[in-house]
Amino acid sequence: MEECELCGRKMSTAYIISIENVKLRVCEKCSNDKKVLFIDNGKEKADSANKYIENNSDNDEIEQIIDDYGETIRRARESMGLSLKVLAELLNEKESFLARIEKQKTTPNSKLIEKLEKTLNIKLIENP
Ligand SMILES: [Zn+2]
Repeated sequence: MEECELCGRKMSTAYIISIENVKLRVCEKCSNDKKVLFIDNGKEKADSANKYIENNSDNDEIEQIIDDYGETIRRARESMGLSLKVLAELLNEKESFLARIEKQKTTPNSKLIEKLEKTLNIKLIENP
């Protein structure tokens, strides 16, 4: 019989929990106030817990960017007194790429949108 990774108690059903991205197989008691990813009662494969975590981290949804995002970015940048070059350095992006975004010739991906929002203190995603 398997032992709980926290208290060492023998258990027939393992509760897979995640603490700071480390997965532990613990008994019912130890899983109590934790987020349980998966309950392994021996009927299903334990690697379902792995899949759950992978699926969750790959959560790159397509979001609705505002119509005048280029103008919004440019105005926010200028009001902060930042040149494109400085903003590019802050965001770790190419200056020419940001210039294209400001001219709305290209759309930033969701990661860059997030960085732009945080850095410039603006909202680029349309509220539903
Ligand atoms: Zn335990």
